[in-house]
Amino acid sequence: MILGKHRVGNCCRLTILGKAGNVALVSDGKKSGYRGVQRCGSVWVCPVCSRKISEERKEELNELLGWARSEGLVPIMLTLTFSHSRQDNLKRILKAMKSALKRFRQSRLWRSLEREGDVVATEVKHGQANGWHPHEHLLILLRATNEENALASIEALRSEWTRCLGHEGLKCNAHGFEVQGAASAGDYISKWGTAEEITLSGHKSKGGLHPFGLLELAASGDKHAAALFKEYVDAFHGKRQLVWSRGLKKKIKIHDVTDEEIAQKEEKGGEVFVLFDFEQWKAICRVRGLRGELLDLAVQGGQEAVEKRLQALQQGPPT
Ligand SMILES: [Zn+2]
Repeated sequence: MILGKHRVGNCCRLTILGKAGNVALVSDGKKSGYRGVQRCGSVWVCPVCSRKISEERKEELNELLGWARSEGLVPIMLTLTFSHSRQDNLKRILKAMKSALKRFRQSRLWRSLEREGDVVATEVKHGQANGWHPHEHLLILLRATNEENALASIEALRSEWTRCLGHEGLKCNAHGFEVQGAASAGDYISKWGTAEEITLSGHKSKGGLHPFGLLELAASGDKHAAALFKEYVDAFHGKRQLVWSRGLKKKIKIHDVTDEEIAQKEEKGGEVFVLFDFEQWKAICRVRGLRGELLDLAVQGGQEAVEKRLQALQQGPPT
């Protein structure tokens, strides 16, 4: 499927080594994957890469929490959003929210916080009633005598957020600024990446659809969902999902890797079920949905099930 200038669902298609390389289907019984393929590395657009990137980012966030604990810091979760409606254009409101956040972080009050560092995560959902719902989660590590004081120091910034939104022509109600303590911060990280997984397993998530839910509807022929997904892809193209404050990764000794680098890392372990040469792999890619189907078969029925499916393909017309 091609959405604007972005190609969706074509990940894992090209072999890294070109015509000389083999593609291997590997599985350890619990999960399966392909080795020897090129990945798109988009955390926004591609469910395959997104899952892989999320797993690694989650580890980094856990390291951050562990480090914060050892340093006696108080982690606070601040969720920022604003009032939105079905008529809003995502690109426009996302840009406005980002500008408001920039202003917020430049404010005197923000700069006076006893802050050791922070991580900003940008998310979006889509709801029937109120359209796009972009929001920012800020994980802020504070030096404070206790959590109560830390919460109070962030709560004091509430009117600052309203002011910054106002500059962009946006406003919010009480839900636009939500402050939570360490337990919520830990909970958020432990669920990192699962929103996509829940979406892809077909369950409805709270507060609207994750974009991958729209992608799934689009794949089943829903034109409206396809248009919305395209709007989302255009709005988020080139944006970073997670932004760590300057120097924070260095403090924890986390090596900075890009999403693309994570996506390109080969899966370790597992057993090689099938090796495809370039021509065979091209044939696999031509059958719609087959790459995903083979991965599912590998986990559910093992090597035998995969081989049976491939034999059936050779005998009859592709199904
Ligand atoms: Zn991809």
